[in-house]
Amino acid sequence: MTSSAIRDLLKVISQLGVISLAGGLPAPEGFPIDALLAACERVLRSPDARTALQYSPSEGLPALRRWVAESLPWPVHEDQVLITTGSQQALDLVAKALIDKGSVVLVGSPSYLGAQQVFTTMQAKMVSVACDADGMLPEDLAAKAAGARFLYLQPNYENPTGTCMSAERREAIGQVAARLGLVILEDNPYGDLWYRQPPPAPLAAKLPENTIYTGSFSKILAPGMRLGYLVAPMKLYQTLVKFKQAADLHSASFNQHVVLEVLRDGFLDRHLPAIRELYQRKRNAMLAALDRHMRGLGASWNRPSGGMFIWLRLPEGLSATALLPRAVEKGVAYVPGTPFFAGDADERALRLSYVTATEAQIDAGIALLAKVVQEALEA
Ligand code: PMP
Repeated sequence: MTSSAIRDLLKVISQLGVISLAGGLPAPEGFPIDALLAACERVLRSPDARTALQYSPSEGLPALRRWVAESLPWPVHEDQVLITTGSQQALDLVAKALIDKGSVVLVGSPSYLGAQQVFTTMQAKMVSVACDADGMLPEDLAAKAAGARFLYLQPNYENPTGTCMSAERREAIGQVAARLGLVILEDNPYGDLWYRQPPPAPLAAKLPENTIYTGSFSKILAPGMRLGYLVAPMKLYQTLVKFKQAADLHSASFNQHVVLEVLRDGFLDRHLPAIRELYQRKRNAMLAALDRHMRGLGASWNRPSGGMFIWLRLPEGLSATALLPRAVEKGVAYVPGTPFFAGDADERALRLSYVTATEAQIDAGIALLAKVVQEALEA
């Protein structure tokens, strides 16, 4: 089953009444509807309403760029910030600027499928670097980095595994990159979704001249706003702006005004603790359900400290791809791990998303999945 066949299957599940633990969709009950409504009203009633509805600079609204620069935990000048249409577009712009046909791009094994798809459109050659529960392995990176255009990394609560890279690993990966002059594309859409303690500092804070950093408003406000950003060293910034102009002139002026209006008075200081609480509760619900239903079957899973995903390995001999149609038939869906691997895939791995479903659905979904696993083991 190819990744597009999996996507087709996942498209139909919503119509079948299947419990979906598949999609990487933020919890809709976390969307700040009242704050967005009030901000829309203020934007449209302000004397500047017509500016918010007009074309605007490709780099983004100056005040929003300033907000981003000031929100980051290392010295960033607002002139280094480019507002993008989701952080997905930031990945696309970087790919267009840095990849030629056949260029080597280093990705984790496994790594975010949407980034690999972008790099593939530019005809990159993906080389995968081994990872463990603490993140990417520096020795494997050093062995594979020669001649690579850049390293794509998600240090915080990675999609698909939920891994948060340890501080020691960040240090070691940063040292390899600095020694080899390797550019890092640090993708951080999940960093604010920590539960008990914030993640270690980004690599960009240590290596600002080597790193292009991307962030997103999708997981802290709402993905439908389609707003993200990148922070680039000045030597690369103008090239990225040129690709941004060519792509869509600028990201929606109105959405930028609304988001800025929402953020202005410290809204996130109130909103983020509630989201963290909600997501931690859902993670706990899934861990409890796994413990209740899946224990003793020979499967294993991790315990993410933030983000939206649990990475599960099925018992020996089972394939997550082969099992998916049976799981959907029973009434539960997940994403098989295979498409996330650029190199050798782990057939047993799958991604469970715990933030979109209700706690009751999580329990019922994991119970169904355990039944499918049990039956497959007996077959
Ligand atoms: N990077 C990663 C790792 C993601 O998981 C996603 C969304 N699934 C994105 C980037 C893109 O998000 P957005 O365009 O909504 O900011």
